[in-house]
Amino acid sequence: MKIAILALQGAFAEHEQMFKQLGAETTLIRNLADWSSFMSSPFGGMRGAAIPGGESTAMMRIMKDECLFEPIRQAILDGLPVLGTCAGLIMLDRYHLDVMDILAKRNAYGRQLGSFNTEEEFKGIGKVPMTFIRAPYIEEAGPEVEILARVEGKAVAARQENMLVTAFHPELTSDTRIHELFLSMVANGSPAG
Ligand code: GLN
Repeated sequence: MKIAILALQGAFAEHEQMFKQLGAETTLIRNLADWSSFMSSPFGGMRGAAIPGGESTAMMRIMKDECLFEPIRQAILDGLPVLGTCAGLIMLDRYHLDVMDILAKRNAYGRQLGSFNTEEEFKGIGKVPMTFIRAPYIEEAGPEVEILARVEGKAVAARQENMLVTAFHPELTSDTRIHELFLSMVANGSPAG
């Protein structure tokens, strides 16, 4: 099983560490050559991608500059499992990669609550610690989207087919269950490679 982590900017190293801890192979994606070699080498069909937290405006610009926008978008539309956290959630929404039927509200918690920790119920997992850093929430979601967690009534985690997103940063806690959930999606649903 191999996980490609978009490493244009932001918190990619923490995802790398967590996936490695769980026994998955990882590769960092910085340019089109990295992506092409990831997509063309076989891993028994089991591959997935992670888009980390960071700054979605910068990530979007670098993704386009590196000609990664279209190939990544197409791979996700073709069924590649993808995990998006925080800015990664924003990247998957209707206004960015436009692969997931959600609309993210950026920097949604105001100045005072820009960053905070909490613990909430996550569907199928139980209570998980959640670290929010100038995070979004999901303000609109289409009928295909399953909301998996809420904080103060706002949707902060969701799944739509091969896409799993969290507004918080599971890679910044020691709780590995969300990454495990994603790896089970990769094991079950990755297109043949
Ligand atoms: N505020 C950032 C953005 O809008 C996201 C913050 C994060 O990823 N920690 O892209």
